[in-house]
Amino acid sequence: MSLETRLLIDGALVAGEGAALVVENPATEAPIAEARGASAEQVAAATQAAVVAQRAWSNIAAAERAELLHDIASGLRERTDDLAAIMTAEGGKPLLENRDEVGWTASAFDFYAELARVQIGRVIPPVETHQLAMVVKEPLGVVGAIVPWNYPLLLLAWKLAPALAAGNAVVCKPSELTPLSTLALAPLFDAMPPGTVQLLAGAGDVGAALVADPRVDGIAFTGSTVTGKAIATAALDRMARVNLEMGGKDALIVCSDVSGEALQIAAEGAAWAAFLNAGQVCTSTERIYVDRSRYEEFVSAFVAHTASLQVGDPTDPSTDVGPMVSAQQRAKALLQVDEAVAAGAELLIGGTRGGHELGHYLTPAVLTGLPPSATVLREETFGPVAPIVPVDSLDDAVALANGSRYGLGVNVFTTDLATSLRLSRELKAGTVWINDPLTDNDAGPFGGFKQSGLGRELGPEGLEAFQETKHVHLDPRIERKDWWYPYGA
Ligand code: NAD
Repeated sequence: MSLETRLLIDGALVAGEGAALVVENPATEAPIAEARGASAEQVAAATQAAVVAQRAWSNIAAAERAELLHDIASGLRERTDDLAAIMTAEGGKPLLENRDEVGWTASAFDFYAELARVQIGRVIPPVETHQLAMVVKEPLGVVGAIVPWNYPLLLLAWKLAPALAAGNAVVCKPSELTPLSTLALAPLFDAMPPGTVQLLAGAGDVGAALVADPRVDGIAFTGSTVTGKAIATAALDRMARVNLEMGGKDALIVCSDVSGEALQIAAEGAAWAAFLNAGQVCTSTERIYVDRSRYEEFVSAFVAHTASLQVGDPTDPSTDVGPMVSAQQRAKALLQVDEAVAAGAELLIGGTRGGHELGHYLTPAVLTGLPPSATVLREETFGPVAPIVPVDSLDDAVALANGSRYGLGVNVFTTDLATSLRLSRELKAGTVWINDPLTDNDAGPFGGFKQSGLGRELGPEGLEAFQETKHVHLDPRIERKDWWYPYGA
């Protein structure tokens, strides 16, 4: 596994001149690479190069841009082994999940390669005879893409692919915890005008410099709600466009009609939704509401399934749950477990290091008997922790699920048609999954209600996020209009 630590600025690989970065392997706590992030001057050089590159890129015919995006998708697929190994080394996600992530990343490039060829404006009825009235879609210009560590390539692709498809140049800023998989992408952009895609590294200060740069027309961000709000505030000052995917506290509802084999399957699906990537998914299930008539049976199936999960080395193909990304994230999740237990909750399983001396391991934890005020039911956990709460009615389940300042996604298990339709209407979240936890679809929008974000990624909405809309009124003749001055005439 070769590791690239240089930045890609204006088509050249250059050493960072900013703050030192040490990238650590979360499974072993051993450093795997030392690099330097971008300096303020390098951020400015990148945005200036992007301004120049964007003109060249947007002048390339859409069909040719589409070919180049398809080539990126193929290049990603060819490098699946290499990229997945880097992601596992720097992020701790199981290798199998990272291989999937490379595939989904390629899929997003293929999807937007085709949308690049179908950028739909329209010709509308004019208000005057002889006039042609057109609505056209144009690129924003330069886009800054700021990404977290949990899905470093996928969440980058959800910004980079549509932004490029729309004709923008993009300056990318991965998380300081996982920059290596992003820096490894540099050769994929060789065929584009230099500066069309640039890859920086560094911490929040590099992201903030990008947001503050007046040459950056739009910011696409995935990360915490706190950071998202800071970016929105800074961007508002100069009215830069923002597309923000932020935190969540997703609920999962198990309805009274789910019994027998279906209840067992629901328990397994819920465990996957809660513990996938050690619970470090923005749409992780973080609260489970089960109809009281099914509660005991569901809890015992959920705990039994959790006990069967293999927690360990993320490079081992049979590992289900790897380490968390950092000691800090682990401590934050464990604190919520400890606080809940201190407030009277019961920890049925998990919440330990699972026998690992090194690595940020936290075995999947299941909590019951929680007071409604427990932090673990209200604040984002972002770890492998599943609090389960009985509910007396569907009304209660909806009220509890909606009673959050977040609104990213909600999962439901039911086969009752009326319940499915009612919940899909009443749940206040950007995605409602019914019997199909956490699937993504490039063709449909992803994003949050309330404090989970602003705007949408994926689907046609994800392309529009990187476009301005222009209305052109065209009269081919120069003719005096009778509503001009002088009014007296
Ligand atoms: P974070 O907000 O700490 O960092 C995200 C990115 O923003 C990093 O690249 C970071 O360097 C950068 N950054 C930090 N401060 C900045 C600033 N002031 N200006 C500009 N950039 C700045 O989040 P994280 O810890 O990397 O990721 C975890 C969070 O991401 C969780 O809250 C999770 O819910 C959220 N998330 C959301 C989604 C979604 O689609 N809604 C998906 C994945 C993760």
